[in-house]
Amino acid sequence: MEIKITKNPNPKEKPADESKLGFGKVFTDHMFLMDWDIDRGWHDARIVPYGPLSLSPACTALHYALEVFEGLKAYRTAEGKIQLFRPYENANRLKNSADRIGVPEVDPDDFVEAVLALVSLDKDWVPHTEGTSLYIRPVIFGDDSNVGLHTLRHAVFMIILAPSGMYYPEGLNPVRIMVEESDVRAVRGGTGYTKCGGNYAASQRASVLAEAKGYTQVLWLDGVERKYVEEVGSMNMMFKIDGKVITPALDDGSILPGITRKSILELVRSEGIPVEERKITLQEIIDAAEAGKLEEAWGCGTAAVVSPVGWLYAEGKEYEFNGGKIGPYTQHLYDEITSIQWGKAEDRFGWIVPVV
Ligand SMILES: *Cc1c(COP(=O)(O)O)cnc(C)c1O
Repeated sequence: MEIKITKNPNPKEKPADESKLGFGKVFTDHMFLMDWDIDRGWHDARIVPYGPLSLSPACTALHYALEVFEGLKAYRTAEGKIQLFRPYENANRLKNSADRIGVPEVDPDDFVEAVLALVSLDKDWVPHTEGTSLYIRPVIFGDDSNVGLHTLRHAVFMIILAPSGMYYPEGLNPVRIMVEESDVRAVRGGTGYTKCGGNYAASQRASVLAEAKGYTQVLWLDGVERKYVEEVGSMNMMFKIDGKVITPALDDGSILPGITRKSILELVRSEGIPVEERKITLQEIIDAAEAGKLEEAWGCGTAAVVSPVGWLYAEGKEYEFNGGKIGPYTQHLYDEITSIQWGKAEDRFGWIVPVV
């Protein structure tokens, strides 16, 4: 793929105080764009100064949510190298999402090439402070200027970069989560396994209401029986019960196949700890908590890596896990995954792709 680069003539000041970066609020000097149309396929791969897009008011993505995205990070090592974590996983997942939503697929090699080109151009934006990273947000969206919805004729692939601090500014402190009892996020045959804006639109109301009640995230149950635990907000859910790590199986297509989830399961299995990927009822969690067998619970995803769950509100009652403190195994998983990501530990699983 040939990428035409137009450098930003007015580069911005880098944020002086990296502790105030937050997540996804500041963007770098450049972005990647590539156009697709039904006759020519993908063309005009380019890196241009970061700035507003010009869209038709009839743009398909705005009206019908024909949009899929990804989220990954670039990390700065102590030696000053910049590296990515499993970018081909993101590339392949984006392909699966695009296939389901009906936007054109980007070839996984082109995806990784585009990410590498953009991150290496903006490498000075990868922050230096421990726990920070450069968040990479690729997106494909339908861009027909036609309110009639037919087979898509135009689409855009775009990548933007946001230097980011720790996802939870309060650090690895346990969060309070709340079972959502009325809205559902995904059902079998739906789009739950894709990373698409529509899934977030479906879950937004519950998230806002939970936040207003003092809960950081919603715990989603399955959309049909409302019995089985699925995900927590934008993270996959894991429990440590009776010495085993248990996480919902992906079989029904209603759960996002997280790359952090996959990496943690590989790590846990390599440590000889039993893993169960299966259906888990909310009742089983409540029973385990009441019997004192629920050792730890955490959400996992690229943004936060792991987020310990300290309290769960379900069926009119609040349950406390591990005394409302981060559990030792949750901390261990965080330490292991992040030390590979930041190049402090050997890349023994072959997860790292160097940028520069
Ligand atoms: C992105 C995402 C996750 C986590 O996936 P990672 O690849 O680990 O970042 C989990 N659930 C939802 C709904 C997501 O969008």
